[in-house]
Amino acid sequence: MKIRTRYAPSPTGKMHVGNLRSALYEFLIAKHEGGEFMLRIEDTDQERIVEGATEIIYRTLEKTGLIHDEGPDKDGGYGPYVQSERMKTGIYLKYAKELIDKGEAYYCFCDKERLDSLKTEVVEGKEITVYDKHCLSLSKEEVEKNLAEGKPYVIRQNIPNEGSTTFHDELYGDITVENSELDDMILIKTDGYPTYNFANVVDDHTMNITHVVRGNEYLSSSPKYQRLYDAFGWESPVYVHLPLITDENHKKLSKRSGHSSFEDLIEQGFVTEAVVNYIALLGWSPEDNREIFSLDELIKEFDYHRISKSPAVFDIVKLRWMNGEYIKAMDFDTYYEMAKPYIDEAVKTDVDKKKLAEWVKTRIEVFPDIKELIDFVDELPEYDIDMYTHKKMKTNAESSLLVLKEILPILEEQDDYSNDALYSTLLNYVEEKGYKNGFVLWPVRTAVSGKQMTPAGATELMELFGKDETIKRIKAGIAKLERA
Ligand code: GLU
Repeated sequence: MKIRTRYAPSPTGKMHVGNLRSALYEFLIAKHEGGEFMLRIEDTDQERIVEGATEIIYRTLEKTGLIHDEGPDKDGGYGPYVQSERMKTGIYLKYAKELIDKGEAYYCFCDKERLDSLKTEVVEGKEITVYDKHCLSLSKEEVEKNLAEGKPYVIRQNIPNEGSTTFHDELYGDITVENSELDDMILIKTDGYPTYNFANVVDDHTMNITHVVRGNEYLSSSPKYQRLYDAFGWESPVYVHLPLITDENHKKLSKRSGHSSFEDLIEQGFVTEAVVNYIALLGWSPEDNREIFSLDELIKEFDYHRISKSPAVFDIVKLRWMNGEYIKAMDFDTYYEMAKPYIDEAVKTDVDKKKLAEWVKTRIEVFPDIKELIDFVDELPEYDIDMYTHKKMKTNAESSLLVLKEILPILEEQDDYSNDALYSTLLNYVEEKGYKNGFVLWPVRTAVSGKQMTPAGATELMELFGKDETIKRIKAGIAKLERA
């Protein structure tokens, strides 16, 4: 049997981390077995559709490399791939009528007023009406009459009050619920659209889907889906209901966290491959403790039996670390193209920006980190003279003033401001005086950068700045120390 999986997003906005994880796992399950990965757009809830959301879905799948074999833009013989278009073929109504004939569904003509008077229950935070099967008792003639009169209707699933229903999930095992706990959910709405609840079953079956991966918010509805499969005599797909993704406080990952969607993360300077790698580990782990995987490696290693049902914590610190590893491993040109906008923003003076990029490559976790590392380039920052004191280097304000004053004329004399030349000048001076290297290099670096930590050493910074700027900064250091 050929593995066929589907990613079935509703075009309702940004691509959430949870959605991307479902898409990724579906993709990996299919590709691991040489199967097919399909895209289906679930737009039956017309009120929730957000303009541009479908484009986000296409863009994200392409960017992340989760390339679908079939979808609205790639016919594979199972189309249409958009539910509103499938509806026009009459497929949902046809199957709903089949259920009515089997006694597994019925027309319901209850108006809003009557429904409002019924008992409600809160299911997963949403208030739903518990339907009392009122219309189940309508005679065939009454139904025909209502239909002929054009009375608005819905079609409901008929779930008996007795007995129980069992379905199987790969992570949760067999789950059995009492039928009395299941409501007669709507299959076809008054506007003629199927509900997600009905469409997902009809579509997954008619599109030959073998594995369904989705968030565990669908777990409680799955017995109802199982009843539909059974009523039709269809085999249900393998279900994998994924654990919730939470933030560090074990709350559902929300917009407020600032990193709940793929677009947010990219905007914050994360690298696509690192995000995909990290998301793969939100609920899945390989046999060993390996953590860095390219998409191809994931395809090879991914075994859905190793998905865990414990909640997956989205750890931004971990993602930042992983992103840093990806940046370190990038080839320079690709990296430079991504780093350049951040460098351009932080540095307006005419210096060797490639050099700056090289220096920070191994020191950043996300691209916006660049700014802080090079914010001393355009202008010498205000700094405290305490910075000249370094226990290990045996330096303090006094010794630094001495060194800077001695070195200034030497640097003024020199014209070759290459790193190598500057380095041997400083070392000559060190040797001549019988100092330790750090005793000289520390105050010089402090004076030219005004920072405790710099992405490069003293002479590299001097080379970047050139003679004039270097002399200016050394003089400023002397003045600062003399004033103290
Ligand atoms: N359209 C549903 C959603 O976006 C898909 C759920 C499923 O994968 O079955 O949540």
